[in-house]
Amino acid sequence: MSSAPRPVVANAAGEITDVAGLRAAARAGDDVFPLEPDDLVPLPDSSRLMFLPGRTPLAYERGASTPEALDGALAVAAFLPPGWTAFSLSAFRRETDAPLLPLYAYTAVCWHKGRFCVPARRVDDDPKHDPESFSTAEIEKRVAELRARFPHNRLIAHHGTRCALEWGCPNAQNLFLQRWEAPIAVSRACNAVCLACISEQPGDTVPSPQTRIEFLPTVEEILEIALPHLENAPRAMISFGQGCEGEPLLQAELIDRAIRAIRAVTSRGTLHLNTNGSRPDAVEKLADAGLDSVRVSLNSARAEAYTPYYRPRTYAFADVTASLRAARAKGLFSSLNYLSFPGVTDRVDEAEALERLVRETGVRMIQWRNLNVDPDWYADALGRESRSPRLGMSALLDRVRTAFPELRFGYFNPPAEDWR
Ligand code: SF4
Repeated sequence: MSSAPRPVVANAAGEITDVAGLRAAARAGDDVFPLEPDDLVPLPDSSRLMFLPGRTPLAYERGASTPEALDGALAVAAFLPPGWTAFSLSAFRRETDAPLLPLYAYTAVCWHKGRFCVPARRVDDDPKHDPESFSTAEIEKRVAELRARFPHNRLIAHHGTRCALEWGCPNAQNLFLQRWEAPIAVSRACNAVCLACISEQPGDTVPSPQTRIEFLPTVEEILEIALPHLENAPRAMISFGQGCEGEPLLQAELIDRAIRAIRAVTSRGTLHLNTNGSRPDAVEKLADAGLDSVRVSLNSARAEAYTPYYRPRTYAFADVTASLRAARAKGLFSSLNYLSFPGVTDRVDEAEALERLVRETGVRMIQWRNLNVDPDWYADALGRESRSPRLGMSALLDRVRTAFPELRFGYFNPPAEDWR
């Protein structure tokens, strides 16, 4: 037991400590199990530890096969930086008065061999969101410069003041630092009502970390951002579809005109779209206009789990797969933003559906991004509908890697120079 991973808990003041003599537990879906040393890595730099109000941590006594609740303590979880995929979640007993947790992913954390450790794997080592490559003073200076140069441009004001400075969005900050992937938000509305949407939440749930853009930009406003970035930035990308907007395909006509205007001036850089994939016809039109790549977000490759989470209003899961097929047929680089959640993503039926989806749509990349959601809220929304055996996230990644040796794994959108 002395070499087993130890539980990490918090007291009412939020002070975090490990507990000697017990073994740390983890959770996937509703399953609780001991944390295995083989799954652990040292807590990545830039992770955050959070204590979870109204949640009592679970742990194992020596030789016990069922966990016990550590009454009087609060559960602790780790929020991992981008690029890391979680294998299991913090294990706790939810008390009756527990508030809904804000929109983070609650990765299990333990104390092992003298340091904090987490069950996770790094799937992308692109540094484009690494905190050490951002200087707040430099970003403030660049935002002020660009705002002074284009005082009428509402997109520059939105991505500068709100996204880059208020919300600390790395893509928006990279726009002002003129490097890598930069955002352009266009759509106020969405045709889905995702449970854990980060841009809009009803007042009685949790705060959304961002809010939606409040205006429809003009092509001229888009060009004033896009052209200098595409012409000058290293590994330049412009991405439509951001966390501060609804669904960009609802503004496909505007994006179409913007892409054609951009490509009339420069062929440099990558034009990319992040979308829910709800309109295959619009994906085809944007490909004809000059779009290079598309990333489709989904929490599941099965309609049974997709629909209760996305709650699509004007489309169906079949449109999502049709969009991926359309992207492939038009020669776009297509990827999945696969919103991963241990206990849903790593079940056999889901793995089989994912493999079918990859085969049928020819996607070239999976971004294994952790779904930011209260675990019980998510399980309740899905109705715990799958009883298929659980593989474990680590085994799932290995299985998909073996089935598709050419398939790219990652977390970020790659520029065209990486895949052409
Ligand atoms: S598709 Fe995107 S913008 Fe629309 S509800 Fe879902 S997360 Fe929010």
